[in-house]
Amino acid sequence: MHVVPLPALADNYIWLLHDDDGRAIVVDPGDAAPVEAALQQRHLTLCAILLTHHHHDHVGGVEALLTRHRVPVYAPHDERIAHATHRVDDGDLVQLDIPASRFDVIAVPGHTTTHIAYAGEGVLLCGDTLFSMGCGRLFEGTPAQMLASLDRLSSLPGNTLVCCAHEYTAANGRFAHTVEPANAALAARQVEVAQLRANDRPSLPVPLATEQATNPFLRVDSDAVVAWASERGVTGDRVARFAALRANKDVFAG
Ligand code: ZN
Ligand code: FE
Repeated sequence: MHVVPLPALADNYIWLLHDDDGRAIVVDPGDAAPVEAALQQRHLTLCAILLTHHHHDHVGGVEALLTRHRVPVYAPHDERIAHATHRVDDGDLVQLDIPASRFDVIAVPGHTTTHIAYAGEGVLLCGDTLFSMGCGRLFEGTPAQMLASLDRLSSLPGNTLVCCAHEYTAANGRFAHTVEPANAALAARQVEVAQLRANDRPSLPVPLATEQATNPFLRVDSDAVVAWASERGVTGDRVARFAALRANKDVFAG
């Protein structure tokens, strides 16, 4: 399966997956126009739409796409998402005949209560839950919920390609560097990302192993994050450390 990020809206990526026979899936089409353009340019037929959560920048293009493509739409159980043909939940398997593919559904509450991720075909489609060197804001869930969700994603194979829904990587890296200034893998990733972005190329997808080595939100048990928390007077468990990271990132201006 080919994995292509389509830049959309301000800083979203709509993920396009397609096989060698030109049959495609799109994930979180917040806008129909970039999808239609990519289908035309690459001579692809849209066969399915996967949705991770209800925010408009992830579902806003579904209605327009359905006027031109009669395809199944997979989505979490959430009335705020219209046009779903298949409602899926944690533990479900999305099995498509065309293009032949399978995705495990993982419930990842935190950014929103009903947010789901899809893992399969070597990729993780994680919406606004996991970002490169960062994670989604807690609009509806608790720190404990979000940390449990990230723990589950972080337990996938290290060679899984993480397909995040926003290009937030450089800013996330600047915050991560304040948490772990001595992390060499993080510094190397920041250099790589700066070069990619200077050439107007996406920083994604990124192997999960890179995230495990660089993303502070996946590293709450590391010596560095434990030290960072204790320097700020954060006592308590890993949830407290995660909550402190998230709260500090929320107000980080860098
Ligand atoms: Zn969102
Ligand atoms: Fe979003």
